[in-house]
Amino acid sequence: MGRRLLIALGGNAIKRRTEEGTTAQQLSNVAITCEQIVKLIERQGEGDRIAITHGNGPQVGNLLVQQEAGSGIVPAQAFDVVGSMSQGQIGYMFQQTLQNYLKKAGGDAADVPVVAVVNQVLVSPDDPEFLDPTKPIGNFFSREEAEELARTQGYVIDPPAGEEYREEKRTGFVIKRVLPEGSSPKPYRRVVPSPDPIANVEGGTIRSLVDQGVVVIASGGGGIPVMKENDNGELKGVFAVIDKDKAGERMAEAIDATDFLVLTDVEHAMLNYGKPDQEPVGEVGLEEAERLLAEGHFLRGSMGPKVEACIRFVKWGGRRATITSLDNAVDAIDGKTGTHIVP
Ligand code: ADP
Ligand code: MG
Repeated sequence: MGRRLLIALGGNAIKRRTEEGTTAQQLSNVAITCEQIVKLIERQGEGDRIAITHGNGPQVGNLLVQQEAGSGIVPAQAFDVVGSMSQGQIGYMFQQTLQNYLKKAGGDAADVPVVAVVNQVLVSPDDPEFLDPTKPIGNFFSREEAEELARTQGYVIDPPAGEEYREEKRTGFVIKRVLPEGSSPKPYRRVVPSPDPIANVEGGTIRSLVDQGVVVIASGGGGIPVMKENDNGELKGVFAVIDKDKAGERMAEAIDATDFLVLTDVEHAMLNYGKPDQEPVGEVGLEEAERLLAEGHFLRGSMGPKVEACIRFVKWGGRRATITSLDNAVDAIDGKTGTHIVP
């Protein structure tokens, strides 16, 4: 078997932090990303495969604002449905741009099929996140705005972990102070559960597409979180956000990937990140990666889940998991840079 590569694209592959996120801006970032992906596709040997997943944070946050702002005119859609909208918009942009760039590249690349798949990911109703949500979404609020939402819409502010306010925690009605006291006039944000992904629901279908040589874009934004509603296994959307790197790892398992490439905005994961003595992590084995993770070098909610996902992938049987920046993708695949976790 050749190299089967799952690429997880970070937020900057679609929208830069400083941009508003107009269609033109997003398409221009997607084009830069697709140029790198085409280079990887052109270098593929017989039997090699590539699949892609991506984040959706800014897009789903904006869609949520649009739902709420327009709710006096047309009904706001449920959060899982909003997640599917973000997969649709981002999947479409990548699918079209990648097709265009492959045509431009010509040769064998011109015939490589690309498709975006709207994709569900299974989570457990017993996940501890449902009793203590941690994932901030959407815009920031002042204390006054948070209290207004609590009064008028039934949000709870900074609820304790546990069974108390269970309904609010499961339906996305929690606001937490996410920035230190006094650091910002708007330190509050909505916080939703971020449960651990168990499996990619459409994994088998995605795998057969990948086997056929299709470049599949799926599990966008961590996938649409769903739970089993009954013993028949019928599914139901959940108000939650799955980490895209951890869900990407489940997709890597589903397509039987040999390699997992996490592309973000930094060339390496660093030790002592942000401190004067910070240093890049090169190639590390599983045990060392687990030790560094336990020592707290990688921040929760950003680099932490990437390293966790890479460790999970290699433990599952993956050959190599790599973290680097988008523009270093090719060099990292060649082992010239990036952080690598190996068995
Ligand atoms: P993405 O959209 O690619 O998932 P994130 O912002 O979630 O991007 O994660 C990348 C960020 O992780 C980096 O920009 C950096 O600020 C942060 N980070 C946290 N800990 C580390 C670390 N130890 N080494 C490098 N970057 C780190
Ligand atoms: Mg991230």
